[in-house]
Amino acid sequence: MSSIPKIVIVGAGYGGILTAQQLQKELKHNEADVTLINRHDYHYITTHLHMPAAGTDTIEHSRIPIAQLIDEFKVDLVKGTVKEIIPKEKKIVLEDGSLSYDYLVIGLGGEPETFGIPGMDKFALTIRSINSVRLIREHIEYQLALYKNDGKPGRLNFVVGGAGFSGIEFVAELADRLPQLARAYDIDFNRIQIINVEAAPTALPGFDPELVEYAMDVLKRKGVTFRIGIPIKECLQDGVIVGEGEKIEACTVVWTGGIRGNGLIEKAGFEVMRGRVKIDDFLRAPGHDDIFIIGDSSLMFNPEGRPYPPTAQIAMQQGVLCAKNLAATLRKKELHKFVFSNKGTVASLGKGEAVAVVGKRKIKGWVAAQLKKIVDLRYLFIIGGIPLVLKKGRFF
Ligand SMILES: Cc1cc2nc3c(=O)[nH]c(=O)nc-3n(C[C@H](O)[C@H](O)[C@H](O)COP(=O)(O)OP(=O)(O)OC[C@H]3O[C@@H](n4cnc5c(N)ncnc54)[C@H](O)[C@@H]3O)c2cc1C
Repeated sequence: MSSIPKIVIVGAGYGGILTAQQLQKELKHNEADVTLINRHDYHYITTHLHMPAAGTDTIEHSRIPIAQLIDEFKVDLVKGTVKEIIPKEKKIVLEDGSLSYDYLVIGLGGEPETFGIPGMDKFALTIRSINSVRLIREHIEYQLALYKNDGKPGRLNFVVGGAGFSGIEFVAELADRLPQLARAYDIDFNRIQIINVEAAPTALPGFDPELVEYAMDVLKRKGVTFRIGIPIKECLQDGVIVGEGEKIEACTVVWTGGIRGNGLIEKAGFEVMRGRVKIDDFLRAPGHDDIFIIGDSSLMFNPEGRPYPPTAQIAMQQGVLCAKNLAATLRKKELHKFVFSNKGTVASLGKGEAVAVVGKRKIKGWVAAQLKKIVDLRYLFIIGGIPLVLKKGRFF
């Protein structure tokens, strides 16, 4: 039997891919066996998904075969769905078998947090994977086709729950796409409503107020109606109940209101807050020196004691450090603490418009939109170099 330590990475999202790629660089021949397990044989660019969801971009720009991103001589790729993690037995149970590990990296991402709003799980659509995005895209067009046959007004109302970054980016794409669809389906666009409902007192909570105002003005001009400071109380098959009981008729409700950790983690017995594990400075689960948790399933606090929001940016940085700390663990060297390096924040507002904060600089409009493209291209370059940038990049 091989005495080479076995490292298993579950999830090939931002965190998992960066861990696998960095391990390829860090580890010497036969220093460890590395296995990467993912539900699909492709990696998807979650930060793009609002576009194919609305139909403003193709799905192909958002997914990349994992085999193109890793060196299969150094990392074994297993296409499989994790059903259970059993830390006591150092075992991962898949739909069709199981695997043991010496070291585990959990990068399974997050799940929609519905805050117990009745009906949200059942009736709302969510932007979380290639498959969920296909559904949203088809659903939107289908509603317009149905409207031409049954005339039901709710078919022309599109409610987006949550005006955080993903909610705002999605309504912006909808506002770009629906006028085109309206023309294609012979529907007066003025009859279509895009309604963004947010419980917090502002859109883009926590973001620069001047840029929030700019973003809302741009989107209002594109036809978005904001209902800010109004919680959704219930989601129904044909709409939502908001505030004091008002019903907004809508056959399409897309929920973007929150993220919690992957449910498998709580099931595995880790102590969680909203499904996320408060990891130590070295990215390990408390009490488990053999388990690293990164990305949306992990919880870390900034120096002011506030939790970092779950973003691709942090997942990527954690992925790189996780690989370095795994190598250090194998070599019985000192581990490094995670220090977040904030590269800035950009929110797309659809074609040619965005808002961004980089350092202390506030950027808006066309320049911010170019910045968003650069951020996207930079990610492609990091994981796949120039060939991937040329293949999957969106330049216009
Ligand atoms: C619409 C949208 C826009 C966003 N925009 C931005 C942005 O502009 N900037 C930013 O920094 N962040 C953005 N985010 C957040 C960002 O996408 C996440 O924080 C990031 O994807 C988290 O990375 P991760 O590695 O934790 O998980 P993910 O990237 O979600 O990857 C998880 C992986 O695990 C796999 N998986 C899950 N369950 C299983 C299972 N049971 N078995 C096997 N495999 C499984 C999934 O298929 C996936 O490949 C956005 C999110 C959304 C939804």
